[in-house]
Amino acid sequence: MSRQNLKGMTVAELQDFVLSIGERKYRGGQVFSWMYAKGASSFEEMSDISKGFRDLLAKSAEIQTLEVVAARRSPKDGTTKFLFCLADGLVVESVLIPPERTSPDAGKRLTLCISTQVGCPLDCKFCATGTMGFTRNLTAGEIVDQVIQAQKHASRRITNVVYMGMGEPMLNYENVIKSVDILTDDRSLNIGAKHITISTAGYADRIRRMADEGRKVKLALSLHSLDNEKRTRLMPITKKFSVDELLDAMEYYYRKTKRRPTFEYIMIDGFNDTASDVKKMVQLSKRIPCKVNLIPFHSIEFTNPSGFASTLKPSGRSRIDDFANALRRENITVMVRSSAGADINAACGQLAVLAIGREGLSQVPSSSRQLPASYAT
Ligand code: SAH
Repeated sequence: MSRQNLKGMTVAELQDFVLSIGERKYRGGQVFSWMYAKGASSFEEMSDISKGFRDLLAKSAEIQTLEVVAARRSPKDGTTKFLFCLADGLVVESVLIPPERTSPDAGKRLTLCISTQVGCPLDCKFCATGTMGFTRNLTAGEIVDQVIQAQKHASRRITNVVYMGMGEPMLNYENVIKSVDILTDDRSLNIGAKHITISTAGYADRIRRMADEGRKVKLALSLHSLDNEKRTRLMPITKKFSVDELLDAMEYYYRKTKRRPTFEYIMIDGFNDTASDVKKMVQLSKRIPCKVNLIPFHSIEFTNPSGFASTLKPSGRSRIDDFANALRRENITVMVRSSAGADINAACGQLAVLAIGREGLSQVPSSSRQLPASYAT
């Protein structure tokens, strides 16, 4: 009989599981805390649980754990990129981002950016992950475990989690929501729902669903252009959900939840950073109270882009500042996202495991593994 993997189970599921092996329900909660709050990856570690129960667990269950294959820390800003190997040998990345030294949060906040899929099917033209293609969804356990394992390498508590790594969270909705439920449980990592952000390329139906379900996490939409034709060129998903449909869904979300969503906006030179784009964003903010997150376009040259993708260039710094200030004059909350980690290809949109993406790692002995170039020191 194959052993059941407990990582990814909620308290209720663990309670059912322990009942099914003849133990008392409350024991499910004990295992839950050991796995998620204390990061236990074996039953032996669970020192306040009786030996008899631990032996029973070891016979019928296992705790699958992501292996940190490589970690690379930016000497510039302390951002650390992790390469994780999954049980089937596939790999994903997560990025630990300390606040900038000048930020009022310095020393308090620590953000982890996590992945939800191996690769991504959406093919956004500016994104490195898109060039990997799509392999599979992550399980809830694999999503949560990125936080548990990164926490073991972090010098202080991870306070914020952003679902902005590889993949489209809304295409893996059930597992993503389950992972949020586990991360926010006070017997687990106890991360506040307000400190978790789910970012989507634009699934209008799932945006409405999140609103209907009363999810407390924050929502961000990767907007990048209010012009339907331009957005379609950048993000083919716009053919499925037009800009109008997306904005309707975002308005619905705001009205239902009373929470201001964030619009993410990559600044691309001459493409979406002009005065007319500012005007459209101002109109949008009048319709939907929101925050705007301007993101410098990070180079994906290392993926050898061709065609339209190769024509995209970052807006200059003064263009970004002008755009931000024009929006601020209209009382819009604007953040210019930092490019932390750009020196190690760990900034937004730069996650892609090119060297070993599809073949997997599990068959390769750790001593002779070929790491992707971006982990070379
Ligand atoms: N699929 C989700 C989450 C992953 S992308 C989404 O699309 O929102 C996380 C953020 O990084 C998105 O806002 C995305 O548009 C942005 N991004 C992707 N490629 C980028 C690049 N080359 N430079 C800057 N930001 C990028």
